[in-house]
Amino acid sequence: MQFKSDALVLRAVDYGESDKIVTLFTADRGKLAANLKGVRKAGARLGFAAQPFCFAEYVLNEKSGRHTVVSASLYDGFYALRTDISAFYAAGAVAELCDRLMYEGMTNGRLFVAAVRALKELCEGEGNSALVRFFLFALKEAGYPVRAGECPICGKMPLGRMAFDMESGSFGCAQCLQGVPASETTFRAVRAALGEKDCAEETPDGSLRALRLLKAYLSHHTQARLPALDELLRL
Ligand SMILES: [Zn+2]
Repeated sequence: MQFKSDALVLRAVDYGESDKIVTLFTADRGKLAANLKGVRKAGARLGFAAQPFCFAEYVLNEKSGRHTVVSASLYDGFYALRTDISAFYAAGAVAELCDRLMYEGMTNGRLFVAAVRALKELCEGEGNSALVRFFLFALKEAGYPVRAGECPICGKMPLGRMAFDMESGSFGCAQCLQGVPASETTFRAVRAALGEKDCAEETPDGSLRALRLLKAYLSHHTQARLPALDELLRL
């Protein structure tokens, strides 16, 4: 059976003599693995379709549960990511998050659209704030929303020293809430990424702090490893 799907390449591994197996995040069928035959040969017609972050319409053939790519038409290869190391690792983190949070048989068109948008924003130089926005959206979709508003204990807007509760994903005052220490910079970066109008500006330092906290929060709940994000935080 043949079908068409808009899809994003999350990762690709070499297979056999000259094939590649790509993990595709499709808009309408979730995540699936597909073989690209002969694609490592020089001048292969579908070489682009096996590149990380390739966003294309794929024509796939399904036979006994195995998928083969028949053809693909490119929407965007996000090639600008290759010229900026931090944007490249941030894009890698977007792909890793989709890969870790989607399991086979699950579809999420909203997450797909958000991932494509995040890659576009990274290409346009929006930096880590684009990744923070995507990370928060992906966490919410996975059932781990982050709240950065009034303290859940006293009901006031937290200021200065704060705490973050890994169980509920909430910020609160350091004196009210049990949790890991969190800075006001992190809190404001998360609020900005959540679209709160009082925090229009997200500083580069705030984005990095927010990414460290979100990584710890995700691994607290899922044990998911994110090597590209680790590289980004090491730069
Ligand atoms: Zn409080």
